[in-house]
Amino acid sequence: MRAWATAIAFTAIAALAGCNQGSLGPAAVDGESIVDADSEPGNWLTHGRTYSEQRYSPLEQINAGNVGEMGLAWSYELPSNRGASATPIVVDGVMYVTSAWSNVVALNAATGEEIWKWDAEVPRSRGQYACCDVTNRGVAVWNGKVYVATIDGRLVALNAEDGAVAWSQLTVDQSKPYTITGAPRAANGLIYIGNGGAEYGVRGYVSAYDAATGELKWRFYTTPNPEGPDNAASDSVRDQALATWNLQEGAWRQSGGGGTAWDSIVYDSELNRLWIGVGNGSPWNRQVRSPDYDGNNDNLYLSSIVAVDADTGAYQCHYQTTPGDTWDYTATQHIMLATLEIEGQERKVAMQAPKNGYFYVLDRNDCKLISAAPIAQQTWTTGIDQATGRPIENPEARFVAGSAIVLPSPFGAHNWHPMAMSQQTGFVYIPVQELAQDFTTDSRFVYRPGRWNTGTVHAGLPMDPAARRAVTNSMSGALLAWDPVNQRQAWRVELNGAWNGGALATAGNLVFQGTVDGHLAAYNAQTGEKLWDFDNQAATLAGPMTYMVGDTQYVASLASYGSVFFLAAGFAAPREGDNLNGRVNVFRVGGEATLPPRNFVRAETPEPPALRVPAAAMLRGEAVYGQFCNVCHGPGAVGGGVIPDIRRSTVLQDQTVWLQTIHGAREENGMPDFSDWITPQDAELVRAYVAQQARLLYNQEHAQGGAGGQRGR
Ligand code: CA
Repeated sequence: MRAWATAIAFTAIAALAGCNQGSLGPAAVDGESIVDADSEPGNWLTHGRTYSEQRYSPLEQINAGNVGEMGLAWSYELPSNRGASATPIVVDGVMYVTSAWSNVVALNAATGEEIWKWDAEVPRSRGQYACCDVTNRGVAVWNGKVYVATIDGRLVALNAEDGAVAWSQLTVDQSKPYTITGAPRAANGLIYIGNGGAEYGVRGYVSAYDAATGELKWRFYTTPNPEGPDNAASDSVRDQALATWNLQEGAWRQSGGGGTAWDSIVYDSELNRLWIGVGNGSPWNRQVRSPDYDGNNDNLYLSSIVAVDADTGAYQCHYQTTPGDTWDYTATQHIMLATLEIEGQERKVAMQAPKNGYFYVLDRNDCKLISAAPIAQQTWTTGIDQATGRPIENPEARFVAGSAIVLPSPFGAHNWHPMAMSQQTGFVYIPVQELAQDFTTDSRFVYRPGRWNTGTVHAGLPMDPAARRAVTNSMSGALLAWDPVNQRQAWRVELNGAWNGGALATAGNLVFQGTVDGHLAAYNAQTGEKLWDFDNQAATLAGPMTYMVGDTQYVASLASYGSVFFLAAGFAAPREGDNLNGRVNVFRVGGEATLPPRNFVRAETPEPPALRVPAAAMLRGEAVYGQFCNVCHGPGAVGGGVIPDIRRSTVLQDQTVWLQTIHGAREENGMPDFSDWITPQDAELVRAYVAQQARLLYNQEHAQGGAGGQRGR
């Protein structure tokens, strides 16, 4: 690992920071300063601004009265066109932000000038294990260091002044398909980090490391070890968890069961607890993971919110949002802490809108359900039993013997895009969406270590453009203002499609939210009236944030294509061409900067080779494509505009180059080596299938009078 040379003397930044009242620089960020974040509202010290992660800022210089005069202050080009998911941290005039492939940059928060950058140098082949793109949700800052977790499973401490590596710890077994996209959290001198990879086959856990030395302090596994204790904090609940799994059969014993904590890990400064959002099972499908038997098959602690002691990792309590999950209904989503007055009583609550379509309010003392209500259409339950806290399942949704169309889809009614809560309105603002999914048990499922292992098969998107449009048009998204006390909608703004961005609430009576079609908008927090909109030129999915330098308030937002929606989902980015790297766009009232023009040129599709193979062989090619290629190159070989569309690739023209590419020739560019999985014969059948798909595109473009040239929206 190497740090770039310091571009600007740090002293210059320290001088600039001197304008900020009460500022002491990153060296002073500790638990007390984060608890007292409201005394330094110009800073944004931790992922969700405060330990409660409400993403509410007391700043009000930008407000409902003047937000219409807000314009671009500066823009910084990130070094990748892949997904940008980070919430920047700002400490005394310096912004620390991550981009795809876990890279970090420190910027002058007033001007966007680069102070230092650090390249995580992640081997690009690691990208094959990132189900949902090689994104990163941001850093933690603590006591003079900046902490980032990398796609290949390292936790790295960088000196805040110059980006030099202070320490680096491997937090995963790299022989397994672990990845990390989550932001570390810092509290009590510890750095907390989870991991991902449950689609491929891993066992989830959260680790706590000493912030100063990098020494591992404790680890909590979210699924039990059937072989014996782990000598870890989770051993005390191993029996409790084991009693909820089929011990005789099921792929969970090979995969580790999943339950990865890839996003929300929230420190509760009032109860000294860590709240862990736990992900889906591995494989997804419970019938192959832990088949039905005469016993409790809830599979703890999958799809649960688990509270542990922040110092020791000792289990405190849990609530399972989706017992025996079979739909990829993670409970990794944003956990927000608050104190609410409910039926005349002050209650310390944890709130979450996991993927499964409900909004939960839990008691932070005992993890018991206070209330739950659906925030989107869902078909997997007929309700929640308030007495037991358990969902009342719709038995048809479990596709035990066959198929079912279920809402929400694995994209969730809400995914990782952060919520926000206004202390003025009391509403929680949720990026909500409605998408259905057809689930079918994969009757020929075989566990393949390190490969896509969900135990389900899904119908692809239709190839016919009109039918395809009909499918994508059926997906809807909205910004939902939710009253968490009364569990009801306050207002709702319909958006143009699903997979919209995170939210920010401010004391200026504002809510900011980005959209999948590339805009950042501001709304009146009370009414939902749209007050401002900016064309960010790329999907704006990350959580926006706000800060002050000197006497000026800024709002920052990241924009980029990438993310799972433009890879696995096969939804084309609305604009294609060159110059599509992600950006950090920062706004202030009166800002007059402009974004550089984008070059929306797309090369003409070369005429694909005519590869005639028997129908059965073509089906084989399609099946192999579906198994190994689909996740990145898109269903039906329809690229999402981020990774090259292989239908347009010259590689398709040449049998030898095609095979070499599949067998590792482009590993450095991120194309995995599939030589253990795809034989030369199968590679050629995949080529025939992709060429067939390319022919459809080629004919379509030529029927329209040719492709290429300038392309707008
Ligand atoms: Ca998942």
